Amino acid sequence: MKGDKTYLDYAATTPIDSCVMESMLPYFQDHFGNPSSIHRWGQKTEAAIEESRAKVASHLGCHPSEVVFTSSGSESDNLALRGTALQARKHRKANHILTSPVEHRAVLRTAQDLEQTYGFELEYLPVDRFGCVSPDELEKAIRSDTSVVSIIHANNEIGSINPIKMLSSVCRSKNIPFHIDSVQAASQLPLDVNHLGIDLMSIGAHKFYGPKGVGALYIRSGIELHPILTGGNQENGLRAGTQNVPLIVGMANALEITVLEREKHNRSFQHLRDQLLERIPDLIPDTQITGHTTWRLSNHASFVFKGIHGNHLLMALDIAGFACSSDSACKTGDPEPSDVLKAIGLSQEWTSGSLRVTVGRSTTQDDIDRFLEVLPTIIERIRRSND
Ligand SMILES: *Cc1c(COP(=O)(O)O)cnc(C)c1O
Repeated sequence: MKGDKTYLDYAATTPIDSCVMESMLPYFQDHFGNPSSIHRWGQKTEAAIEESRAKVASHLGCHPSEVVFTSSGSESDNLALRGTALQARKHRKANHILTSPVEHRAVLRTAQDLEQTYGFELEYLPVDRFGCVSPDELEKAIRSDTSVVSIIHANNEIGSINPIKMLSSVCRSKNIPFHIDSVQAASQLPLDVNHLGIDLMSIGAHKFYGPKGVGALYIRSGIELHPILTGGNQENGLRAGTQNVPLIVGMANALEITVLEREKHNRSFQHLRDQLLERIPDLIPDTQITGHTTWRLSNHASFVFKGIHGNHLLMALDIAGFACSSDSACKTGDPEPSDVLKAIGLSQEWTSGSLRVTVGRSTTQDDIDRFLEVLPTIIERIRRSND
């Protein structure tokens, strides 16, 4: 037993691994030099950044010069989309952007800003009822004046994994830059950029037991980006600003641990997760699983319950000691139904009652047992109070 508080929201964020925490500490006080400085203080922190870059690159299967450090997964998505779209327009008059309706807001809102503020033509690829994009639809929609294609690797709300290799081969055959948002995928899926065949990939450390406020963007050599943060020449001139050394060190170590322990954790995540996917629809009438049942993240279970308001459910679960999420964590309090749930074809009576339950490294069988005991009672109580 771990007291009466059970965290089941690892897709929203994860705690920092204690080894990662330890590795960051010297860079807050002892080694504080500006990595751009010539003297040994600067050399020390520059070396720490370059070691971290090499470490991240080795786990992505790329060259260190292809890794840019950013302040978050969101910033990586912004740099990927704005950077490629603006550059492609400047160099080859490409004015078309392809994405999907089930992207994280960091991609969706950026694509919409490129449409509304910069006049790009934005087109959404259709998704199936699992929220996946089909390579055939991409093949039909991609054009020679497409500046960038951006698709989510694994969906943060409904857990489904996109067929990235098939999508990337379509982009490659047309020679169009392909970005994937792997921020949610990175804790569980292999990220080898050549195996996946992609050109740009966003990750963010706090989704894989690293610190918040740091991310990375992989940019395949030869893909040119217009910088979105101008100033000093840091990060290859693509991202001005003195680097956050401790956070970068932490992210590299967090990624290393994640990759080394991936299979072990995936096995235990899936064992716990499968009980949620199997039992909840049996225990609770008028329930649907959202997202793919097998082709999904190993730690991720998500549902919709008819006649339930997601926020009521989250508050009742919180009182009972369980932290979960509805739609995406950033949307709590927002009465608008989720774009993702609408895009996979759910009607209004279902979309308001979504629940995401995500397990992590500290989740135990006891946590799942207690959750499965409490959830049906709470749902029944809410439904009764609606009558
Ligand atoms: C969390 C998340 C982001 C945003 O990352 P931050 O580091 O929190 O800015 C982007 N895309 C997906 C799929 C995510 O899950």
